[in-house]
Amino acid sequence: MSGNWKAICKTRDLFQNGYSHGTWLADLKRYSVKSGYDWIRLKETKVGWSKLVWNNAAIPKHCFVNWLIMRNALNTKEKLHRIGISSDALCCICQAESENVAHLFQHCHYFVEILELAYDWLRIPKPQGNSIIWTGRRHWSQVQKNVCLAVFMVVNYAIRQQRNSARLEGVLLRPTVLFTQCKNLMKIRIRSQLSRVIRASDRDWINCVLS
Ligand SMILES: [Zn+2]
Repeated sequence: MSGNWKAICKTRDLFQNGYSHGTWLADLKRYSVKSGYDWIRLKETKVGWSKLVWNNAAIPKHCFVNWLIMRNALNTKEKLHRIGISSDALCCICQAESENVAHLFQHCHYFVEILELAYDWLRIPKPQGNSIIWTGRRHWSQVQKNVCLAVFMVVNYAIRQQRNSARLEGVLLRPTVLFTQCKNLMKIRIRSQLSRVIRASDRDWINCVLS
């Protein structure tokens, strides 16, 4: 097991245990400092979205990155510019607007194009605002919610990777190519994680998605 993978699993376990036993803050502080995440602003209040991010349909490393996104804890150029590390705050992908979490994962045209491909594939309406929070508020079955959340989380993870690739290597995949990669990954994940005992309506919907 690689060091990164161990760290991700440990963080997931800390959060899952912490939220259920109320001791997460001390463990999280200790782990955050040890892992270089001491810049995260910790809050003692529980957050309503933790179960949306840590769900079994999603790939664990995607859960971790999405947890950072939801906590506004990613290092964006806007943050780096503010502390004098970056000469400008422009988005690494579109170079048109200030790069912050809301821009990268809600408003950037690159993200919007991939999101359209995602909700078309899932046969659901267009998410409004934060796609994870929006999905959590739908009155869908838990299976459908978890699959949609996992897909939106793989999209967010891929956007973050492309942002880093654009910044460090000047390379950016076309949205259709990137989404095909996300889709293929999720098809494998859904098939491997899907319980045999699910409602007929869920199975029909999933069969449509996987076809
Ligand atoms: Zn942008």
